[in-house]
Amino acid sequence: MRRASVLRLGHRVPRDERASTHLALAARALGAEELIYSGDRDPELEAKIRDVVGRWGGGFRITYTDRPLEILRRYSGQGYATVHLTMYGVGINDVMDSILRREKVLVIVGGEKVPRVYFEEADYNVAVGWQPHSEIAALAIFLDRYFQGREVDTVDPYPPTIVPMKRGKLVIRPGSGGSDA
Ligand code: SAM
Repeated sequence: MRRASVLRLGHRVPRDERASTHLALAARALGAEELIYSGDRDPELEAKIRDVVGRWGGGFRITYTDRPLEILRRYSGQGYATVHLTMYGVGINDVMDSILRREKVLVIVGGEKVPRVYFEEADYNVAVGWQPHSEIAALAIFLDRYFQGREVDTVDPYPPTIVPMKRGKLVIRPGSGGSDA
């Protein structure tokens, strides 16, 4: 089973609050298992995402790092393909076949200017088109290609839970955002 983690560089409070929230939500909804972010530590961002996970289910994680380059190196050492999304990279259509041979990816996205070392150390520098747009759009397209469309086919990825009751029926359905009785 394919696995994807996302490393978001240089989160800035307050400027990136919405973008990083949307990045985390897109990562979770489109099949990634975690978002690791660097830059400004943002407990509100973490709380928002954990709240969504609590209400909608799944095991998505959000964690902060002040050593993002170590994350790249550690994941690389664990067999992850490290994929830096950048408009200056090689076209996604030209490298996807090669990336699809790898069972685990760490996808790296920037905010402001990405330090050169990431271009040098990532296994792939991948452009989703060669126009500037956004980390959210680039990540969404990349994950959809990596999971080959399967993540958007899954209507209810999280199994319903039956709450035992003396009388009546209560089923919690995290994937549909609520419960039914
Ligand atoms: N000039 C930057 C660049 O290197 O792509 C654009 C900065 S953009 C505000 C923030 C992030 O969005 C980038 O670091 C990159 O991860 C992603 N991004 C933006 N446009 C992209 C593109 N065409 N292809 C891949 N990633 C892109």
